[in-house]
This record gives sequence, C-alpha cells and structure tokens, in this order.
Amino acid sequence: MVDIIVVGSGIAGLTASIHASDNGARVSLISPDYSERSQSVMAMGGINAALDTKGENDSVKEHFTDTINGGCEINNRKAVEMLTRDAPGIIDWLSRIGTSFTRDANGSVDLRNFGGQKKKRTAYAGSRTGKQIVSALVNACRKRESEGKIKRFVGYRFLSLIFTDKNECCGVNCIHEDTQEIKSFTGDAVIIATGGYNQLFGKILGSVQNDGFATAKLFTQGVELANLEMVQYHPTTVSTSLKRMLITEAARGEGGRLFVERDGQRHYFMKEMYPELADLMPRDVVSRSIYNVSDGGKREVFLDLTHLDEDTVKIRLDEVWEICNRYLNLNPLESPIPVFPAPHYFMGGILTDENHRTNIKGLYAAGECSCQYHGANRLGGNSLLGAVHGGLICAQNAVLEKVEGNPVTAVDDEVDLYVNGDESLSHALGEISDIMNESMGIYRNEEGLKKGLERLNDLDTNVNAKYYDCQKVRLLKILAKASILSALSRKESRGAHQRTDYPQSDKNYEKATFVTYENGKIVIR
Ligand SMILES: Cc1cc2nc3c(=O)[nH]c(=O)nc-3n(C[C@H](O)[C@H](O)[C@H](O)COP(=O)(O)OP(=O)(O)OC[C@H]3O[C@@H](n4cnc5c(N)ncnc54)[C@H](O)[C@@H]3O)c2cc1C
Repeated sequence: MVDIIVVGSGIAGLTASIHASDNGARVSLISPDYSERSQSVMAMGGINAALDTKGENDSVKEHFTDTINGGCEINNRKAVEMLTRDAPGIIDWLSRIGTSFTRDANGSVDLRNFGGQKKKRTAYAGSRTGKQIVSALVNACRKRESEGKIKRFVGYRFLSLIFTDKNECCGVNCIHEDTQEIKSFTGDAVIIATGGYNQLFGKILGSVQNDGFATAKLFTQGVELANLEMVQYHPTTVSTSLKRMLITEAARGEGGRLFVERDGQRHYFMKEMYPELADLMPRDVVSRSIYNVSDGGKREVFLDLTHLDEDTVKIRLDEVWEICNRYLNLNPLESPIPVFPAPHYFMGGILTDENHRTNIKGLYAAGECSCQYHGANRLGGNSLLGAVHGGLICAQNAVLEKVEGNPVTAVDDEVDLYVNGDESLSHALGEISDIMNESMGIYRNEEGLKKGLERLNDLDTNVNAKYYDCQKVRLLKILAKASILSALSRKESRGAHQRTDYPQSDKNYEKATFVTYENGKIVIR
C-alpha cells in the first residue's frame, strides 16, 4: 500500500486526501486546525466552469482563453487546458458529494457573472460557496476516516521536508502547536496544500493560519518557486474595526457599480473607461482604476448596490449583507459601500508542472500555495477550481510514486523549544509586512523595491520566541527578499505587477519568473 502525506486541510488538501484514498493510498492529513477553520471557508462568490446552463453558448475554449488573457499570457497553458476541461466534471462531483449549489428554476446549477469573463460561468452557493464546498468535502473525508483510509493529525504545523539518501522527498517533520512535540511522518509521496503566504503582508483578508512558513522552508530546502512578484489586490475591500474584509466580486457580478464623486456628481468610472466589461474587468484593472481615480486613496470610492432588488442583496449576496450590517453599520440597499483595494491572493508560489509535480521527486503541491494556473492575474472563481483540480491531479499522480532510498530524518537546529517570547517577534514580523506593503503595492518602482531590500537586509531576525516562530522570522525574510528580487527582475508592467518606471508590457518578459535558493543565495531565472 502507498502512504501519502498531505499537509494542509483546506479545499486542496481535503480533495487530495479523498482522491488519494479512493485510489488505494493510506493518507495522513496534517494541519494546525480543523478544515472548518481553513481559509477555504471564507470563499464567497463562486467557482468557475463552462457549464453553459444559461444558453449563452459558453465553452471550455472560452474559459481557457479568458483565463490566459486574465493571466496576461504567462500561465502554464497545458495546466490551464486541463483545468478548464475538467471544470464541469468537478462541479458535478462536488454536487454529488453534497455541495448545495444555488440552482435555477429548471434545477440546473445557477451561474453568475464574475470578472474577466464575458459569459455567466461562476457556480455559487449564495455568497458562502467556500463553506458549502468545505462542508461537503469534510463529510466525504470523515467517511474515509471512519474506514481507516485517512488519518487526521490536527494541531501540527509543517517544519521541514524529509529526504531520502537519493535526495527524493519521503516525508515531513512537524511541530505540535500546543505541546511543541516534534513528529516525523514518512511515506511514498508528500502533497503540500498550505495556502497562500498571507503573513508576508501582515493582517490581510485571508486566514492568519497561512503564515507562509511552509513555502519559505521548502524554498530553502531546494524547491523552486515562481512568479512571487504577482500579488493580487482585491478591488473591493472594506475597513472594519476587526480587520479588512472582502466584498465579493459577485456583488459586481450581480450588477454592483463603482463610482467616485466629482463636482457633486457620481461618476461610474469603470463604465466610462471600459464600456464592454465595465465593473467586471479583471481584478488587476479594477484595482488600478480605483487607485487612480481615488488619487492613491485620498478620495473615497464607493460600490453601489442600492439599485439592486432586495432578494439579490439579502439572499444571493447574503454574506455582503451581513458584513455591511454587522461590521459597517450600513444598509447596502440604501447607502453605497466605501471600498479600497487590498492584498488578497498569491498567483506565485511553489512551481509545479501540469501534473502538480515540483522539481523534487515525491513532492507535489496544490491550491493557493502552488503556481501554474493563474499567471500574472487570477480570475475570480478560478482559485476554488484550481484548489479542487490541483488536489485531484496531485492524488492521481502521487499514488503512482515510489521514492528511492532511505529516509534521512533530521530536525534542522537544536533550539530550546520553550523560550518565553517578547515583543521582538511581533516587531520583526511587523517590519517584514510593512516593507512588503510599502514596496510591493499596486504600483512599484526600482527605488522603492531597492529600499525594501535594504530594510530587509538590515532586519535583525534574532528574536526571542518559540522554536517555530524563530524559524518563521528568518524564513519569511528570505521569502520577502525573493519576492522583491522577482519584482526587480521583471522590468515591465504585466497584470498584478505594475512598474511606474517600466509602464509598458514587454514581449521579452512573456514568461514566468523562476526563483531558487542555492548555497544561501537567491537566484532568479
Ligand atoms: C475572503 C475571501 C473570499 C474568497 N472568495 C473566493 C471565491 O469566491 N472564489 C474563489 O475561487 N476563490 C476565493 N477566494 C480564494 C480561495 O478561498 C483560496 O485561494 C482557496 O480556498 C485556497 O484553498 P487551499 O486549499 O489552497 O488553502 P486554504 O483553504 O487556505 O488551506 C490551507 C491549509 O493549510 C494549513 N496550513 C497553513 N500553514 C501551515 C503549516 N505551516 N503547516 C501545516 N498546515 C498549514 C491551514 O491550516 C489550512 O488547513 C477567497 C479568499 C478570501 C480570503
């Protein structure tokens, strides 16, 4: 029997575990918390597939073309071909395992508009699509747990990869968050599904669990990363007393419009600038437009839902209704919502091929931590799709894997596991996120990026904290530097990467940015 280790239990990790076990593997599923607390449950607006239930003659080919155009041509085309081809089957599978997608009067899966796509292609469950998918996957997973096919290890964080003496990946070292116990898991293949590296940008829209440790550690252990300069800013986020929160793109898909006030008049600027797709232009375009019309945030931009009917806002956009009422004390049927872009999603990450293989034998990656589908800008609704598809493809390939050699198990350093922390940790992490927010904004330039790099070089990472956190600060500093160096090396503007000193896109850069860590040095190709 093949043993597969899956790290991370959001949508990608759950899907990989279910399919690996259905393909005959014994699965160890590791995560710091239960799936119900993963970022995947936050996903609101929907998941894309060319189901064509609206009679618009949608097709897989158009889904492919929109994805490549949205990604500004630097997506892995083969991977996108497989993603878009398999999407309708994925919606069917998710429905069969119990995802309650919103349906139309004919009983077909209803579809809504989303950015960067001319046809209705986004399946949804109100505005709680992630929750519905996670709950169906959790049920499917539990069934296999009760049959002894999947074993869950909750409370553990990834520490490092374990290699064989032939340099193939055969396991992971993990640390228990409460007891600080270090545990090694060995097997025939490892699937990493640890989500985006949110902590690099501080308190962003996603889950704080996704701290970027795993991606950064893999990098230092020889795993190739790509497109780290491609950070998506979501156009419509709101500031609440808790944190920034997201107003789903579905609000614009259902007819919401952005405006700015000039001379006492409302200017619906997206319609003025982009008559065809207007507010449904890809996210990078909408975020830049908001930034520009607001003069970099000096004047307010609003999302107007007041013309929509009550059912649309209260039922189809239920989570938006709740956020506005509960956190903004605002009735979106009566008042427009003040919005501004914020860091949201990482198109870059662990480089995989279309089979979700990394450059290390036995090691796979899926979901937001991995990089293949989205190029320079992800289309809304393609992330949930990519997470399910990635999990599926990883599982299919990983069960065929047989690593060679014997494990060489080692936890990197001898560190006192029970150090009492002080403020040095939050200071260092705060400094890293300040640097990233300042130098890697919607617009960047050489001067700002170099300044960021200098500040990172000066940053003292000798913090007084627990073992995991000490490691994390050092690793995030390396990942931050790799991101800034990637941004410096792309001397053009493309998708989410906009350089004021190189404002045009350049055909010579119509390719991904690869980055490796070699003998303590960051190397960009
Ligand atoms: C507010 C919001 C709304 C969104 N709406 C949509 C939408 O409508 N449509 C869409 O397509 N996408 C949407 N997204 C994006 C989408 O939710 C994510 O990209 C997707 O769910 C990622 O799934 P995942 O399985 O890769 O990662 P996650 O769901 O983030 O799961 C990561 C897992 O890894 C674990 N983990 C993290 N670090 C470690 C570690 N060091 N060791 C071990 N485990 C670790 C976590 O605990 C978790 O179990 C939205 C995102 C946000 C934040």
